[in-house]
Amino acid sequence: MRTTNAYAAMTAQAPLAPFTIQRREPGPHDVLIDIRYCGICHSDLHQARDEWGGAIFPMVPGHEIMGTVAQVGTKVKRFKVGDSAGVGCLVDSCRTCPSCKKGQEQYCETHAAWTYNGLEMDLKTPTYGGYSTQIVVDQRFVLRVPKALPLDAAAPLLCAGITTYSPLRHWKVGKKNRLAVVGLGGLGHMAVKIGAALGAEVTVLSHSEKKRKDAARLGADDFVVASDSSALAKLKRRFDFILDTVSAPHNLNAYLECLKTDGTMILVGAPKAPTPLGAFPLVMRRRRLAGSLIGGIEETQEMLDFCAKHRIPADIETVPIQQVNEAYERMLRGDVRYRFVIDMSSLK
Ligand code: NAP
Ligand code: ZN
Ligand code: ZN
Repeated sequence: MRTTNAYAAMTAQAPLAPFTIQRREPGPHDVLIDIRYCGICHSDLHQARDEWGGAIFPMVPGHEIMGTVAQVGTKVKRFKVGDSAGVGCLVDSCRTCPSCKKGQEQYCETHAAWTYNGLEMDLKTPTYGGYSTQIVVDQRFVLRVPKALPLDAAAPLLCAGITTYSPLRHWKVGKKNRLAVVGLGGLGHMAVKIGAALGAEVTVLSHSEKKRKDAARLGADDFVVASDSSALAKLKRRFDFILDTVSAPHNLNAYLECLKTDGTMILVGAPKAPTPLGAFPLVMRRRRLAGSLIGGIEETQEMLDFCAKHRIPADIETVPIQQVNEAYERMLRGDVRYRFVIDMSSLK
């Protein structure tokens, strides 16, 4: 086993603090990665504070991992020492169920090993994420990083990027479609960039006026303050698709009214509390309410290549690991443009 420096939450109430974990020695199919950057996703905060229930402590969060290959197992063909490599939200899955066979490991019907706050395939060993100096992952779950993407600004693509790319591709959002993105945070800003690159007309629905200029710079065609009910009412039946990235409980019914007949609203945000849902906003216009979870490994690679081709990095603010608790508080206040990325050299 290898002793590895990390930052962990010991309980749901405790701030993150220095901690050491044990990682396995790389097996024949494993890649050992020196972690250079790790994005801070709002899911890290939800889980470190056990807002979704069932959290496993001590918890080392982090599933937007970018680094350099330090060692490879004897059977590893896809990577060599010195290559850039990425790890997202999954480090393994059953590989045999219908979902895994379709490349949708995130919907594995048996057991998917989440990068942290999960269990390895032995169903016993806890997984630890990217707020650490090294990680050992089977090569099948390691992503290649196109050279056109800077490593720090590419890290958030591994969750924020794929979580927004996957539903936009699944529902074939593109030219001729009007897309609204609710919430301009880590996921939201990637949804704007990717939606615009796919050719959609993009409107940002934000809960304050503050991000209007940024929305235009990111590629949005329009910006509406959604907390202003009269402004929202003017958007009635306007959109083909709404992608909801909001991290806090909020009223879905008012947004559903902004969909055309047969329009689709997709939830990717995962607030801790449920929200009331009226039947009428759906029933009266045959609207659909759907959800989507990250994306599979093959699709994550496709997304990285797409973002490299279209020159779409994330907008980031780099922080040392010692500021992670402050970064969580700032993320809660919406004070991040638009993703914190931890420079992991600060942990060495
Ligand atoms: P984030 O950077 O904190 O962004 C969330 C955005 O939601 C904020 O920027 C804000 O946008 C809006 N918001 C926050 N509080 C609000 C409130 N009280 N009322 C209205 N709007 C509010 O978070 P993130 O990392 O993008 O993650 C967003 C959500 O997606 C989280 O719940 C996360 O767990 C979830 N997630 C899901 C998946 C998946 O696979 N489905 C993957 C990753 C993350 P404005 O200031 O523009 O209003
Ligand atoms: Zn995430
Ligand atoms: Zn499976």
